Amino acid sequence: MTIDEALELIKQATECLVIWRTDTGEILQVIGLPANAGGQDRASALNRMRDAAPGVPCASRFLVNPQNVTHETLEALCEEFRQHSRLVALRVAAAAKWARQPARELVAILETGDFPPGTGTTDAHWLVRRLFDFHWQELDDALTTRLWHLLYTNQLDRLGQLELRARLYGFERRQDEFVAMWMDQYHGRPVVGSTAMRVAGDLEITDPRVISDLVATIRAIIPFLSIRDAMVALGRIGPAAGEAAAQAIQAVVYDSSPWITALRDRVLRRIRTAPDQWCKCQACHQGLVHVDERNGPEVEECPTCYGLGYIELDDDRSRLRKVD
Ligand SMILES: [Zn+2]
Repeated sequence: MTIDEALELIKQATECLVIWRTDTGEILQVIGLPANAGGQDRASALNRMRDAAPGVPCASRFLVNPQNVTHETLEALCEEFRQHSRLVALRVAAAAKWARQPARELVAILETGDFPPGTGTTDAHWLVRRLFDFHWQELDDALTTRLWHLLYTNQLDRLGQLELRARLYGFERRQDEFVAMWMDQYHGRPVVGSTAMRVAGDLEITDPRVISDLVATIRAIIPFLSIRDAMVALGRIGPAAGEAAAQAIQAVVYDSSPWITALRDRVLRRIRTAPDQWCKCQACHQGLVHVDERNGPEVEECPTCYGLGYIELDDDRSRLRKVD
């Protein structure tokens, strides 16, 4: 609808929810709320938003003083959504390009600070993640030397520094230095960063202080994604994670989706069985695989090993292996 058509509907309401199509900035719908609307009324308006245009990127805003809304304020909101949508598109394109660009070009972006449109120096941690997730095989001595130089010369922002340091420790298998970084940055904290948990799993860290932090993360009241990252890290660490970790997982992670239930059960078996009952998964790199998503290449947990990097030997193979 046009801005004037929307404005007419808005003026008739005492309060309303306006729904925009974010990529074009077009107003799709104006939902009037009853006088003295409560939480229930607003929730039901938001529910109706989902049906406004299925499959189309939408955003909404409650307007609580419709009488004060003018053509100009509506036009400004349309432009705000259009601009945000353009920024998101640029960032999606940059992330897709980073997955395909040679590692040396990504390192050069970190060195020069010359980030592509839609991204900036505060995205260094994101670029570092793409670099190690997609290009670890290209990282030779010359490139890792340049990356260490970036750290020593403090050229990245704090998040970028943390991401790069953890990733380099993981890549070069520097367990002691990684544990020292963990103690400095994460020990005793209620939430540990996902990269740190990931690298703890990559390096199969057995330091009891790191394990106790991972177990505390399982038991913390935090978003499930962090609990899941901690569970995967403990599963990758294996029996050294210990029975306390297994019990924490059992107490916290209930039967939910088939993936989560299967992951939890595998993690529990991995912690409670001998290491020689398991072998390295051949389908992934450290529990991750590359997939082509609608917006470009991404990494996700390997469907063969559920992100653990190990698969369980069946009884026959296990027996054969022991005979070997
Ligand atoms: Zn795998």
